[in-house]
Amino acid sequence: MKVKGYAVESAKAKLKPYEFTRRELLPNDVALDILFAGICHSDIHQAREEWGAAIFPMVPGHEIVGRVTAVGSNVSKFKVGEIIGVGVFIDSCRSCTSCSAGLEQYCVEGMTGTYNTLERDGVTVAMGGYSDKFVINEKYAVHVPEKLDLPGVAPLMCAGITLYSPLKNWKAAPGKKIGIIGLGGLGHMGVKFAVAMGAETTVFSHSPEKEADAKRMGAHHFVSTKEIKNLQSLEKKFDLLLNTVSADLDLEPYLQMLKLDGTLVVIGLPGKPYSINAGTLLGQRRSLAGSMIGGIAQLQEMLNFCGEKNITSDVEVIDATYINQAYDRTVASDVKYRFVIDAKSF
Ligand code: NAP
Ligand code: ZN
Ligand code: ZN
Repeated sequence: MKVKGYAVESAKAKLKPYEFTRRELLPNDVALDILFAGICHSDIHQAREEWGAAIFPMVPGHEIVGRVTAVGSNVSKFKVGEIIGVGVFIDSCRSCTSCSAGLEQYCVEGMTGTYNTLERDGVTVAMGGYSDKFVINEKYAVHVPEKLDLPGVAPLMCAGITLYSPLKNWKAAPGKKIGIIGLGGLGHMGVKFAVAMGAETTVFSHSPEKEADAKRMGAHHFVSTKEIKNLQSLEKKFDLLLNTVSADLDLEPYLQMLKLDGTLVVIGLPGKPYSINAGTLLGQRRSLAGSMIGGIAQLQEMLNFCGEKNITSDVEVIDATYINQAYDRTVASDVKYRFVIDAKSF
């Protein structure tokens, strides 16, 4: 089928209108008209080749919400007219231990990303959500609770699940002290989920002007990281810290804020390695961990949780012509708190 979207032709280029084709429906596929597509910082890292060689032209976008327009002959999960979501991957091997456990994002053979990768046929370049139509195998799409505000749902498909998953894994709950580092697209979802799960939640931000927003989202405390003494006064206080910062960050003062057996989870993906002191880890039997998005079952669980608690992302809805400015503003930490493209503008 013919599709209109926005693509980037090289790491130094701007995004611009681009027409391409997607496959016609296979028996287990659903087709959707995209309604909204979020702009994740990972889109920017990849469009600018900050994670290494990329495939161009690239249509980024892995926070997709849309309406089903057609279903293949074997589809049982979705009906025409239903609102569904598509996230960071569109396929995986479907048989390894991770896939069998519903952890497709950790597929032993590698998940198939929504863009900037080859599909499992080894030849088709996956094209992402900055576009007006999408086709996906039903297994890799999820149901969206009807009452939620749809622009605010799109970012749940990456930013939402990426924070929900580690909060569940490390058992966010009343009595736990949790810190979210960076109040951007991911971070603001982390605040909403940690608060909804009952944890005492602190935001660490290098943008002091975000304090009122953090509190409005439910954060109990806000710490400006502009002054290192603010971190030093919190040594050995936290059970769990989630680092969503997209840029290089000295993890040392954050690790020192963990109490005995506390964990710092790396979620942000800057291009450069971190440097840490072994002594800081072993001093309080601290752990340094990582976490990547979430599997399809957990994505559905998160959306259902959002439906029950009425949680969505805070968004700035834009037309496609604004994508390049939105990229620059995101890099400058100037987004409240996710840009979402109205797909009518493609
Ligand atoms: P974002 O909206 O740009 O938010 C990042 C936040 O980091 C900013 O809002 C800012 O928060 C803070 N920050 C940025 N530059 C900083 C600097 N120089 N020093 C200190 N803090 C800084 O990005 P995002 O979409 O949330 O993504 C965040 C990172 O997670 C990206 O690297 C992305 O690729 C990665 N990611 C990982 C996964 C995963 O599965 N693990 C999934 C999606 C994205 P303050 O203004 O509050 O300081
Ligand atoms: Zn993302
Ligand atoms: Zn697999």
